[in-house]
Amino acid sequence: MEKLLVIGLDSVPPDLLFGKLLDSLPNTKRLYRDGTHGTLETCHPPITVPAWMVMMTGKNPGALGIYGFRHRRGSSYTDGYIVDSRHVSEPTVWEILGERGLKSCVIGLPPSYPPKAINGCLVTCMITPGPEKEFTFPQSLKNEVRRVVGEYAFDVTFRVEERDSLKRELFEMTKKRFKLASHLAREKDWNLFILHEIGFDRLHHAFWKFFDPDHPKYVVGNKYERIAEEYYGLFDELLGDLLEAAGADVPVLLLSDHGSKAMKGAFCINQWLEREGFLKLARPPLGVTEFEKAEVDWTRTMAWGWGGYYARIFLNIKGRERGGIVPPEDVPALKSELKRRILQLRDVSGRPMKNSVFEPDELYGVARGDKPDLMVYFDDLNWRSAGTVGHESLYLSENDTGPDDSVHSMNGIFLYHDPNNHQNQIKSMNAEEVAPTILNLFGLPIPDGMKGRAVKLS
Ligand SMILES: [Zn+2]
Repeated sequence: MEKLLVIGLDSVPPDLLFGKLLDSLPNTKRLYRDGTHGTLETCHPPITVPAWMVMMTGKNPGALGIYGFRHRRGSSYTDGYIVDSRHVSEPTVWEILGERGLKSCVIGLPPSYPPKAINGCLVTCMITPGPEKEFTFPQSLKNEVRRVVGEYAFDVTFRVEERDSLKRELFEMTKKRFKLASHLAREKDWNLFILHEIGFDRLHHAFWKFFDPDHPKYVVGNKYERIAEEYYGLFDELLGDLLEAAGADVPVLLLSDHGSKAMKGAFCINQWLEREGFLKLARPPLGVTEFEKAEVDWTRTMAWGWGGYYARIFLNIKGRERGGIVPPEDVPALKSELKRRILQLRDVSGRPMKNSVFEPDELYGVARGDKPDLMVYFDDLNWRSAGTVGHESLYLSENDTGPDDSVHSMNGIFLYHDPNNHQNQIKSMNAEEVAPTILNLFGLPIPDGMKGRAVKLS
């Protein structure tokens, strides 16, 4: 293969793109009708970072040592960091192609800030602090970006109450990103072109309760009822432009990194650990308090947790944490006891939750880097984890870190369309299979370290 266009639609679930919205999306529908499509089973955890890098390197999160955006620094109680491009040490598909002299153009793929050298060109992702920073490779590309779209937008602030201006910014951001993509697709020399759009994820988190009649907080006749049709419709139009800019003969692969679904609520992990006797606060918090600011009695705390789409649980182990109290030989029994109790949890209405508890080493084979001791999904991810303390109940109907209506699910999408080889077949793929599949499309061998198979798309 000479050329491949990859479009990453962050957080797009099959039931929207291939389901209820498909008939209103003429370009997508044409690709769907004549292409190979299916569900893309994502990695654990189903989160943007690490999911895109799992797809682009063919390595699981344990091998990458990336378990989410935020990480705990070593065995610190409070110190953390955000993952960026420097934490990705495994080769990506564009690096493997680059070694063979093939050129790539990559826009927005997380995490790609700060920009790394590439055989081609690169525009960084939504973790970029702002357009005043270096965000392109080569550096000179930055002026070209400004010339084509003016002020480039990496992301929108989406956990806000004021949704009118958010809607405007969201649509504006996506238009600019696709305008830039179409320009670069036309002007640059490339074999692999990758565009990532974060806007879908922001649409879902900020507006899910407005467009999904099944969301517990849906209100009939609200002013954003059709926003999903509008946003996906905008995408479909811009997709048409980009396909034309890329060239009529170029195959396209649409991917999403996980799905999305309505959030049922947030479960207060630290309050639960306290109630069960695993965590002690020196004094009760005055109102809702971030865990990092709560007065924890570390001399009597065995475990604490983090909020997010899933809960990370850390144990206070003697010889590892500064004030560790759990003897290393007691760790397996403590993990088992936590697991046992978590699996028995019920939701706010008394129904058993479908919870899962994973140990990173068992889940990944090898788990590098700053991993949690346990990873917990509440009720098949329908409930997120709240790390804050000082709530009146263990169950919150809202996210504790700002308005958010959706959670992630394990099923994303893929859709491959080759203009010269129409197919209509349904297949399945998982996140680790994406990199070998792309290399295979280019006729390249699969490196030994990639465990996934290459899915035959045509
Ligand atoms: Zn995502």
